[in-house]
Amino acid sequence: MSTALPYDPQRLAHCAGEIIVNVRELSARGWTPATSSNFSRRIDAQHAAITVSGRDKGRLTEADIMVVDLEGAPVATSHRPSAETLLHTQLYKRYPEIGCVLHTHSQTQTVASRLYAGMGHVHLEGYELLKAFTGNTTHEMSLELPVLPNTQDMHTLAAQVDALLDQQAMWGYLIDGHGLYAWGRDMPEARRHLEAFEFLLGCELELRRLQR
Ligand SMILES: [Zn+2]
Repeated sequence: MSTALPYDPQRLAHCAGEIIVNVRELSARGWTPATSSNFSRRIDAQHAAITVSGRDKGRLTEADIMVVDLEGAPVATSHRPSAETLLHTQLYKRYPEIGCVLHTHSQTQTVASRLYAGMGHVHLEGYELLKAFTGNTTHEMSLELPVLPNTQDMHTLAAQVDALLDQQAMWGYLIDGHGLYAWGRDMPEARRHLEAFEFLLGCELELRRLQR
């Protein structure tokens, strides 16, 4: 018998497979330039699978996925997790039902984050696609996508996210000059939220261009 791991290796393999397939597709759209971005999937109540720092997200293999605990510390591996691991694990810790966190750096997300950083949020209203967000049943609602200031201090950023989550239910946020975080209960839901944010931000940018 090999040394017992604190998580189910079959569950890890399943999570890693999901991350690899989905992230390759997101990467093919140009949403993960220059080894940026990071992706995770909950394994169980104490562990998450997350991409190893610095890997090309368009060419992920199982060796590029590692396990962390919900404090963001590596588990049974010598790999280094992404610097932003804390922004993933804080969501898993806070919400037992959250199963997937996706973080991308598309041009649309990055430009929108710069444009709306001063306002502190992007106001999204009147779009049919707002129904893509779990809990929204009509296009007649509006949504504020927060834009947080960028910093390399993840504890500061995580504290700001926590303060926002104390005030409102949300499925994502932007970081200024950086990119988007989106999440859901599983991979399909997180991906739907990510794609909806990307599409709606693209609409807002295009409207501004046309209205100039
Ligand atoms: Zn990032």
